[in-house]
Amino acid sequence: MDAEQLRENAHKMVDFIADYYKSIENFPVLSQVQPGYLHNLIPDSAPHHPESLQNVLDGYIDIQEKILPGVTHWQSPNYFAYYPSNSSVAGFLGEMLSAGLNIVGFSWITSPAATELEMIVLDWLAKLLKLPEDFLSSGQGGGVIQGTASEAVLVVLLAARDKALKRVGKNSLEKLVVYASDQTHSALQKACQIGGIHPQNFRVLKTDSSTNYSLSPDSLAEAISRDLTIGLIPFFLCATVGTTSSTAVDPLLALGNIAKSNGMWFHVDAAYAGSACICPEYRQYIDGVEEADSFNMNAHKWFLTNFDCSALWVKDRNTLIQSLSTNPEFLKNKASQANMVVDYKDWQIPLGRRFRSLKLWMVLRLYGLENLQGYIRNHIQLAKHFEGLVAQDLRFEVVTPRIFSLVCFRLLPPHNDEDHGNKLNHKLLDDINSTGKIFISHTVLSGKYILRFAVGAPLTEWRHVNAAWEVMQDKASALLARLSI
Ligand code: PLP
Repeated sequence: MDAEQLRENAHKMVDFIADYYKSIENFPVLSQVQPGYLHNLIPDSAPHHPESLQNVLDGYIDIQEKILPGVTHWQSPNYFAYYPSNSSVAGFLGEMLSAGLNIVGFSWITSPAATELEMIVLDWLAKLLKLPEDFLSSGQGGGVIQGTASEAVLVVLLAARDKALKRVGKNSLEKLVVYASDQTHSALQKACQIGGIHPQNFRVLKTDSSTNYSLSPDSLAEAISRDLTIGLIPFFLCATVGTTSSTAVDPLLALGNIAKSNGMWFHVDAAYAGSACICPEYRQYIDGVEEADSFNMNAHKWFLTNFDCSALWVKDRNTLIQSLSTNPEFLKNKASQANMVVDYKDWQIPLGRRFRSLKLWMVLRLYGLENLQGYIRNHIQLAKHFEGLVAQDLRFEVVTPRIFSLVCFRLLPPHNDEDHGNKLNHKLLDDINSTGKIFISHTVLSGKYILRFAVGAPLTEWRHVNAAWEVMQDKASALLARLSI
């Protein structure tokens, strides 16, 4: 690392990125390239001789002409697809510092600041979310930054599995049962596959519009009692606050009570909506988290922290450690041996880990709770505004009540011809996204193809939402006109 070379070129790169953000609205939000496009633009093999940095950077020809066309612009103010993945100056600076220090903080000794700052910052965030004290690092629990919500649910599933097997005997793996709703993210299914849960013991409980797609405690209780009568062992429940399709909120308190009375591990996935719970008026959606064994929210979704940063808290860190720890000779050190420190390698799948708490720390400090709350509330207001626009146009319907910053809606099929409703909305989605002006995504609820409009990009303002709605109305008008010919 040549410090002067870094200084000179990093300034150029920052200029490039700043210019990118200035002109981000000029790009088609959804990349319009075809599969394999890059093969024809980039040589088959790496260069034998070094290229000059100048060559790669000057004019950014390669980046401008080859890379950017293949980028979908998640930070565009016209990005409304899936859920957001936020960036901010604070998050960016933290990320930069983390890349600059480039430590690998698997054990406390490998960079004490990385472990200790992570513990402190996750305690800060737990307090902002008003999580129960059991989740704080001062007791038996604590927080850890995972890469993604998928890794978070995997590690707690493994911890819960091993805890259950300790109780019922190692040979009972085939009998362990996992419960979740049909709206639960597929990350749980993957965790079950990795965790060796028998595929027939993954209970996907049906939801419908009568509960706004939230999991009914009665259906959970019935499923558990059916399984108990045939000798199976219920051990894990995953509830979601803010499901991926429609932001459904599972009733944590009632579900948690059932899990507790059956000796099960209760995990709460609030990957997207958890961020909103720093606002007192949205905190109610995680009421009942007191019953949970683990809780997860993605700071990289809607909390201004650049990807990746998924915050996981557990009430009993020893369950994680018992499941995931290894102690090879080459990692032994005084602090670890004396049990004086947290070694985060034992709370996660990989050994190596980045100094990710820096970016969350930066976000929390440079915004402060007040501005973070304002940021969340603004997006929710924008979504509410969009919901109102949709409701005023009788050709459309809002499909589920909006809770946070996602609106689920669809174009009503002419003459109530539901057979064509799905095709119609699928076509509308393609027509909208192929304009490149905005990017939205879809889901299916009760067999109906639904359009999703998720507000959450940091640069999105009222004018972007209004313009997005115009694009959607124009495309709907054109589509309906074509149909009536
Ligand atoms: N859980 C929920 C509710 C989600 O919405 C998502 C992604 O959108 C995930 C889990 C998976 O997130 P990750 O990509 O962090 O694994």
